[in-house]
Amino acid sequence: MKEAHCKHCGKRIYNDEIALNIKIFGKQVGYIRCYDCLSEFLGCKSDKLRKTSLFYKNTGCSIFQVKYTYEGEPNE
Ligand SMILES: [Zn+2]
Repeated sequence: MKEAHCKHCGKRIYNDEIALNIKIFGKQVGYIRCYDCLSEFLGCKSDKLRKTSLFYKNTGCSIFQVKYTYEGEPNE
């Protein structure tokens, strides 16, 4: 997966957003949403989702250690 986009609004999404979608909906999730659309869907603040992502990442959740996109690499 080179680049991922929100299935809902089409915005570019990043690794942590994909990881959070998988964390919430499971590995078979086919409908990846950005933080904004996900927060709307879940009825919470997108800021809270960002913090949740960061929390899982920092506590070493394996889902968040996987690279789902090539974000941050040159020639992007
Ligand atoms: Zn979106």
